[in-house]
Amino acid sequence: MTLNLPSPIQKVRFKNIDFFIKRDDLIDRDFSGNKARKFHYFLDHDFPHIKRVVSYGSSQSNAMYSLSVLAKLRGWSFDYYVDHVSGYLRENPHGNYAYALQNGMNIIEGEMKKESESDTLFISEGGRGKEAAYGIKKMADEIVGFFGDKKVDIFLPSGTGTTALFLQKYLPYDVYTTACVGDEEYLKKQFFMLDNDSLVHPKILKGAKKYHFGKLYDEFFKIWIELKQETNIVFDLVYDPKGWLCMMKNIEVFKHPVLYIHQGGIIGNESMIKRYERKISEKIR
Ligand SMILES: *Cc1c(COP(=O)(O)O)cnc(C)c1O
Repeated sequence: MTLNLPSPIQKVRFKNIDFFIKRDDLIDRDFSGNKARKFHYFLDHDFPHIKRVVSYGSSQSNAMYSLSVLAKLRGWSFDYYVDHVSGYLRENPHGNYAYALQNGMNIIEGEMKKESESDTLFISEGGRGKEAAYGIKKMADEIVGFFGDKKVDIFLPSGTGTTALFLQKYLPYDVYTTACVGDEEYLKKQFFMLDNDSLVHPKILKGAKKYHFGKLYDEFFKIWIELKQETNIVFDLVYDPKGWLCMMKNIEVFKHPVLYIHQGGIIGNESMIKRYERKISEKIR
C-alpha cells in the first residue's frame, strides 16, 4: 500500500479568517487520518511472528476500523473487544462497525484477555502508545517541510492527547489543543503519562461549554454544516465540531496563521449523521 504522503496542506477561509488545513483525511481511501498516523509504524515494520492483532474500545471507534484495514493488509486476524454491541447496531450494521466487520474483524463482547502470546500484537484503546510517535514524527516533518522558517500555530482537537503531544515534541511551532474526552485535567494527566516534561506539553484551550464525548449537540451539527459550506471540506462529527468551536472562541490567542489538523474519521460520520437525523426528526415530530 502506498499512502498519499505528504498529505496536502490547503488554504481555506472560514468566517472571514484564513486557515491552513492539513488534509490527513486524504492519506488513503481506506487507511487515513489520525489512526493511519498512529498505526503507520505497524505498516512500515516487519513482524514475522505476528499472526493476530487484539484491541478493545467502543463499537464505532475510528481505531477499530483502521486496525481492521491494517490486519487485512498484513494478513493478521483481528480480535476486537467491546463492552457491548447494541441490538440496533447488530441488526443494522453501519459506519466503522460495518466496514470493520467486512474486513474480517472478530467482535467479542466482554473483557479483553491479555495473555502475552508471541504471535499476538496488543494495541491499547485509541492507538495510544509509543509506536504512535513514528507516524506523528512523519507528519511533523511534513509540516516543517511546508512552512520552514515561517511561523505557524498548530491546532487540533484531542482525545487521548497522544497526537498533540508528539506533534509538540517534534515541531518548532506552538501546538494548541482542546480536550474532547474528559476535561482539561484528564488531558494534562495524559500528557504527563507520555512525557514528564511539561515544557513539551501542548497548550490546552478551553471551550465556552462543557461537552460530553460522543454526544450530539445542535451547535456541533451547525458548525459542521457551516464548515462544509464555506470550505468544501467534510470534517468529522465527533472531534472537529468541538475543535472548531474552541479554536474560533480563542482566535485572539493565536499569534501566527493557524494550521488546523484534519484527522480524518469521515467513515465514522455515517453513524453520527444517522443519530443526528433521528434527533432532528424527533424534534420536528
Ligand atoms: C483518534 C482521533 C482523534 C484523537 O487523537 P488523540 O491522539 O487520541 O488525541 C482526533 N480526531 C480523530 C478523527 C480521531 O480519529
